[in-house]
Amino acid sequence: MLDIGHERRFNSFPEYFKKHYGGRVQKLSIDAGFTCPNRDGTVGHGGCAYCNNDSFNPSYCNPQKSVSQQMLQGIKFHKVRYRKASRYLAYFQTYSNTYAPLEKLRAMYGEALSVPDVIGIVIGTRPDCVDDEKLDFMAELNKTHYVAIEYGMESFYNRTLERINRGHTVEQCIQAIEATASRGIRTGIHLIFGLPGETRREMLDQAEIINRLPINTIKLHQLQIAKGTAFAGQYAENPEEFNLFGRDEYIDFVVQFLERLSPKIIVERFVNEMPLRYMAVDPGWGGIRISELWRLLEQRLVECDTWQGRIV
Ligand code: SF4
Repeated sequence: MLDIGHERRFNSFPEYFKKHYGGRVQKLSIDAGFTCPNRDGTVGHGGCAYCNNDSFNPSYCNPQKSVSQQMLQGIKFHKVRYRKASRYLAYFQTYSNTYAPLEKLRAMYGEALSVPDVIGIVIGTRPDCVDDEKLDFMAELNKTHYVAIEYGMESFYNRTLERINRGHTVEQCIQAIEATASRGIRTGIHLIFGLPGETRREMLDQAEIINRLPINTIKLHQLQIAKGTAFAGQYAENPEEFNLFGRDEYIDFVVQFLERLSPKIIVERFVNEMPLRYMAVDPGWGGIRISELWRLLEQRLVECDTWQGRIV
């Protein structure tokens, strides 16, 4: 079983906070009005083939509102719904949240950290949107707050990154991960399973590469095809190019991936939940809720009597 003091069969994000902060810490999503170099022409046009930021933005996120307004509304929203958290992380989620001059980042992150009960920030970005100056600044913040950077990695195969129009390479991503982690900043990645051109075996093999990198957290997603994306058009023309996961197949696949993943890496997410109204292709998962999917994953780990890192 996991040799990291966990009761669960994988290294879970909420347990990390329970252990280190004594309770639940809730992330508050913020749309701070950033854009993306893969959309504005700096790196590319049109964005990544699967990207539709609207599909994962909570209703309280609106770049017309200030960072602190969004956060206060987010706190209110979560207090009514869940009532469990008393501390929060500002999650700069939409588009590329380091894609601005340092002075602007300083002001925005500072505003977020000034909201009562906010203990840190989590910044989602691209590997080509950080540099030494920005990382040095975040390393300073990290001395007094929880600071994490999440990189949209999506795949460790350059041919896939080209296929999905990411506009950066695996090598750029590894460089950004190492530059971030070497400054003591918590470093996370996103990965998508089911991208066209990758076999299930190739997807699994990525765990080995990840285990060798200084990565603290990982978010796994199954490919979903959102309306208005390049993938939606490609799927309509060539559905056979895509091999979307069925629900039970995906849970079995994640079990196999976790077995190969270092137990030191915190698994923050293993599945995404796009509302059906945003989907161009219904994957036939039956609108099942995330909490139920987590339960099914845990149940499958028990049934297989396996755990994260079992065959690392
Ligand atoms: S997924 Fe991220 S990097 Fe890609 S187009 Fe969307 S915002 Fe830009």
